[in-house]
Parts: sequence; structure tokens; C-alpha cells
Amino acid sequence: MSGWHIPDDLRERYLEGALEPALAMSVDAHLGRCADCRAAVPYDQDWLDESWARLETELITPRLSLAERLLRHGGVPDHLARLLSATPTMSRSWLAAVVAVLAFAVLAARAQADYLPAFLIVAPVLPLAGIALAYGARVDPAHELVAATPMSGPRLLLTRATAVLAVSAALAGLASPLLPAPPGLAAAWLLPALAAASGCLALSNRLPVPMAALSMGGVWLAIVGAGRLIGSWLAVFGPAPQIGYGVAAVLLTYRFYRVSAR
Ligand SMILES: [Zn+2]
Repeated sequence: MSGWHIPDDLRERYLEGALEPALAMSVDAHLGRCADCRAAVPYDQDWLDESWARLETELITPRLSLAERLLRHGGVPDHLARLLSATPTMSRSWLAAVVAVLAFAVLAARAQADYLPAFLIVAPVLPLAGIALAYGARVDPAHELVAATPMSGPRLLLTRATAVLAVSAALAGLASPLLPAPPGLAAAWLLPALAAASGCLALSNRLPVPMAALSMGGVWLAIVGAGRLIGSWLAVFGPAPQIGYGVAAVLLTYRFYRVSAR
């Protein structure tokens, strides 16, 4: 840089806005790196402060969604609350769909006890569908951004999958007491749901998340179908299979951790 500085007459014309664009831009550029010339430009401190404050209100302090405020209120760290509330699956339409499916299953079971298995079969599939929808370029408007952050990959998937599972499990848990069945049977979907979700996570180390979710949904329906073949729909919800789901959930989650920690 030479010792050139903006001459007075040039500055005057710049401040009047009388310079042609190319010249104005080079004055801008010089002002950006020369404190002496900046000091010579008069400015109104109040106007500047007010402008900054307005910018801060508009850009730096975004309005929080209801979900995000609830999460923060519940002690969830700010960055996690933002991430979770930006999960597409947490949208109102997804929640409405889950509630509708559960309500339909409950009503069917109350109308006719034969339909009880429908609820138990469908409840473990809901978190899978949620996980599939919560992840991927096609559904997540923030995918590009998120993919570039340290939270991308397995950690993000686990965070979102856990959130999806927690929300669907809470909704199914609320609906369970409405089923015309003893509490033990009405809650029999929980361990299969956990096992299916952790199976989806473990598979996601090899397959795209939606494929992993679809595969686990298929495995679950195959298990249910096999139960139907050997006896009744309810056979797969007995005590021995439940132990199996519990063990599978623990092992598959452990495997997901091991593989993604590599
Ligand atoms: Zn200068």
C-alpha cells in the first residue's frame, strides 16, 4: 500500500453520493482498510447504534418456536434445542399423522377386540417412519448446512432418532391406556419399538437411513407375520419375545455406537 489517502474533495463527493459506482467502490474499499480515512468520515453515533440494534433484533435474536422454548425451559442445552426443533419430523404435520394413526388403531380396537394387534403392530413402525423422514437431503431444508457441521453423521442421527422415538413413544404411551386390554399387553409395543429403532440405527452404518428404516419395518412385519403363522398375532408380544426385543435393542444400540465411534 502506498501512502495514498482519500483527498478532501473526493471524500466530499463520496459523502454526497455524487461519485460514479466504480469510484465509490474503490473509496469504500480504501475506507475498509484505512483507519485514518475512516476517522475523517463524519457519522452519527445514535443512528449507528440504532441501526445495529435493529439488525440484532432481526437477525441475531430469532424468534423461538414453541417446541424450542419448551425444550430450553426443560433444561435442554440451547444448541440441542435448536437442532431438535429443526428436525423435520417434529413438524405439526408429522405429529398430526402419528396422532391420527394411533387414534384410528385405538378406535378400531375398541370397536372390535380382534383389532387390538393393529395398534401393537403399528406403534413400533411409527418411530421408523419418523426417523426415515427426519433425515436426508430431500426432506431437510437445513441438510446442506447440517452436513457441514461437527454434529453431522451418526451423532446427529442418534440425537434426532432419539427425539423421534421419544415423541412417538410418549404419544403411543398416552394412547395405550385407552386400549381394551390389560396394561401389560397395552404396553407390549414398547420393546419392539425400541428394538426396531436401534436396529434402524445399526443398519444405518451400512445403508442410507430411509432404507435402513424401511428394512427394519419389513423385519418387524415379518416377525409379526411369523407369529401369526405359528399361532396368533399376539404370540409375538409374549414374555419370551419381549426379552428378545429388549436384548436386541441393547445389542443393536451398542453396535451402532461401536461402529460409528470408529
Ligand atoms: Zn487512507
